Amino acid sequence: MNCQKAQDCMRQYLDGSISDHDLEEFIKHIKSCPACYGDLEIYYVMDMAQNYLKDESEESYNICQLLETDMQNKLVKMHRKRRLRHVLLGAFIIFAGVIGWTIFLLAGYL
Ligand SMILES: [Zn+2]
Repeated sequence: MNCQKAQDCMRQYLDGSISDHDLEEFIKHIKSCPACYGDLEIYYVMDMAQNYLKDESEESYNICQLLETDMQNKLVKMHRKRRLRHVLLGAFIIFAGVIGWTIFLLAGYL
């Protein structure tokens, strides 16, 4: 991913609408590009500030830590989703195999 594409993805990253494929590429780019990391940090801080103003609690925010945690959480969520997709695909293949085998056996008896 290049800087232009990363810039385009920032809003989607922050509102959580970024695709899994883009998310992985985006975080890889952010971690290797100080300029984009800096920009993301600014957008993230602005988002946090808005939430902070809405939030009445006195909890203090460690922005850098929160951003790191946010990136980590989004990656974990994506990997979980991907694993679930693989499990479902595996279950489907087994199911299709069982059905196919059943049809094959039934055809043998007919
Ligand atoms: Zn960049």
